[in-house]
Amino acid sequence: MSLLSSHLRRAAASVSAVAAAAAAITMQQYAEFESMVAGSALAEQHLPLSAEAQKTNVVRIPGFLSAREVHEIHELYAELKPRLGSAGRTTSNQAAAYRQGKWETAYLSTDGLFAKCMPELRARLIETAARVDADHWQLLPRAVAPVVPRCVEYHTVEAGGSLPFLTHYDAGSLVTIDVMLSDSRDFEGGEFRTLECDGTMRRYPFEKGDALVFVSHKFHCVTPVTAGRRHVLVMELWEGEERECAHRCERHTGPCSHTVRASFWRRALSDLASDL
Ligand SMILES: [Zn+2]
Repeated sequence: MSLLSSHLRRAAASVSAVAAAAAAITMQQYAEFESMVAGSALAEQHLPLSAEAQKTNVVRIPGFLSAREVHEIHELYAELKPRLGSAGRTTSNQAAAYRQGKWETAYLSTDGLFAKCMPELRARLIETAARVDADHWQLLPRAVAPVVPRCVEYHTVEAGGSLPFLTHYDAGSLVTIDVMLSDSRDFEGGEFRTLECDGTMRRYPFEKGDALVFVSHKFHCVTPVTAGRRHVLVMELWEGEERECAHRCERHTGPCSHTVRASFWRRALSDLASDL
């Protein structure tokens, strides 16, 4: 036995039960952290480099959903709302924040509810993203883990809400599909745009029922909504596990403790703190 290992043994034998418990928790946290980093690294390796993603085009599918299907999504959201995790986007926060904002994101994928309530639409969204990818980018065949929905979101943007950061992208995902759920007469502003390699901003027709499919790492933004309300359905696909937690998860595999209750309290406390 080396001097070092005998020293470690003596040290280990002398720790109190409390310290051992604390050490066990620390080890567990460290193991969780390691698995999260390993999971991220695994998935990120196969993502397109930012420069590569910027060269890709957004693909528009006019009339992807019928008016009836759009109506059903609004109804589903109204019914599920109390059971969903949510986040807000404030003018100063690029990432979805715990605070309330003019841009509200509800996670329809919470507890697998979207998959349970709309299995056909879920399958169609995945199939469409895969077909567009096969025709244009061939990213999904490069994946080393199954490509599945990371999150399904229902966005509500009111006057003053925007995604103003020109270099915003959906970090950690492969392909994103957005579906417009509002009639263009129901809101003003709120244009989806992409920053192109030549520095210009590209605009897209995006009518009710249309889908826009794009490489998640392509820069995209939304100009301020100036009147009315804009609703969009978003599915992000990534390498890993299909998540059922109440947020846009960062953990590719394993359990996640972000429940609806946690989502509620984090938002409530964050709003309270911002009022102080
Ligand atoms: Zn999670």
